[in-house]
Order: sequence, then structure tokens, then C-alpha cells
Amino acid sequence: MKINNSLDVALWENIPCHCKKDDIEKSYPISECVHCKSQECWDSVPQKDFTIKEYDYDDEGNVTGNHDKVINEITLVRGKFEDVIGWNF
Ligand SMILES: [Zn+2]
Repeated sequence: MKINNSLDVALWENIPCHCKKDDIEKSYPISECVHCKSQECWDSVPQKDFTIKEYDYDDEGNVTGNHDKVINEITLVRGKFEDVIGWNF
């Protein structure tokens, strides 16, 4: 998997975690925490190639079937803390 728009160290990684680990009400996700939220988003980025179904069309635009397509490159979309707010391929 090739990941475009990857960073060595994103801004959010330098923002300290404000969670109180022994107090669930003062921990993410109940309590806001930029660091943990950004970490969660980063963890959800696929690190390995994956396969999607793509439809096949005839000349008139009718679906005639489908085939597998391997996605081996994605581009990250980043927010104000350079956190990953999405990705596309
Ligand atoms: Zn936290």
C-alpha cells in the first residue's frame, strides 16, 4: 500500500493527550482529546492493499457485471491538526 500525503510527524502527534486514564468520564471519547481522536483516525487508515468491486458497463451504460480492483495507493486528507479526516483512492 502506497500512502500519499504521509508525514514523518504530524502536528497532532505533538499535542499531548489530556485523558485521565483512570477516569472514563475524563477520557476520550467521552471527553474531547485531540491526540486520542487523531490517533483513532490514523489507526483506521488501511495499511494493506484491499479489493473493491467495480461495475462493468456496456456502450449504453448498462451494468453487465463486475470485476475486482486492487487498491494499492491512497491519498490522505488532513485537517487543521494534520489529523487524518479522510482518504481517497
Ligand atoms: Zn487522550
